[in-house]
Formats: sequence, structure tokens, C-alpha cells
Amino acid sequence: MKRDCIFCQIIDGEVPADILYRDEEVIVFPDIQPQAPKHLLIVPVAHINSVAELGAGDFQLIGKLVLAVKLMAEREGIAHSGYRLTINSGLEAGQVVPHLHLHLLGGRRLNDQLG
Ligand code: AMP
Ligand code: ZN
Repeated sequence: MKRDCIFCQIIDGEVPADILYRDEEVIVFPDIQPQAPKHLLIVPVAHINSVAELGAGDFQLIGKLVLAVKLMAEREGIAHSGYRLTINSGLEAGQVVPHLHLHLLGGRRLNDQLG
């Protein structure tokens, strides 16, 4: 765990969050500033800064993160209406929390533009 990382602090129970899903490798909680009616963050328990920091050994973890998205979309009732996954990596993408996370956005018609 990185002491100064807000998501590590949530994972460690030091900062409160509404934990919607948790297993040994993945944790899910709502975004504190939701951009859509459904806006969840799918986060690896291990601290990885960003996609740019992923290694070849992380491929199973990425699969688990995406499968957690599928599960949460079903639980949130947006599996059929549709949803978007976004991963910001680095400065120009606007990544502000340097702990890898997937944004799951749904519950409304999303913009046609991706960026
Ligand atoms: P990104 O720009 O991809 O790094 O997104 C970081 C996201 O984390 C933003 O959408 C924030 O609203 C969200 N966020 C920051 N702090 C918290 C927190 N304590 N609990 C839940 N979401 C948070
Ligand atoms: Zn972290």
C-alpha cells in the first residue's frame, strides 16, 4: 500500500467508501463525483499507478477487472441498456488518482465523443 494514495486508503479501510464488491484482487465503489447516474470505480487491490505501469504478468488481473465490470453492470441493471468503460492514463488523459482504475459509466445516454 502507498500511504499517500486515496484508493489504497479506501482499500485499507482508512477512508470510507461504499464498497459494492470486493475480493482478493478487485474492489468496487462509487465515484465520489459521479458523471452519470451509475458511475463506479473498478480498482485493483494492488497499487499499480496506471496502464503505463502494467507488466506482462498483469494480464489475468486485467481480465478480472473487466469481468468485475460485467458483474457490476448486471447488478446495477445497466447490462442491457449499455455502459462505457474509461481508463485515464497520465496527464493528458486527466488521470488525477495515480492508482489504476476503470470508470464504469451508465444510466443515461452518453456523449458520442470519446474525448
Ligand atoms: P481519474 O481522473 O481517472 O484519475 O479519476 C479519479 C476519480 O476518482 C474521479 O472521478 C474522482 O471523482 C474519484 N475519486 C477521488 N477520490 C475519491 C474517493 N475518496 N471516493 C470515490 N471516488 C473518488
Ligand atoms: Zn494506491
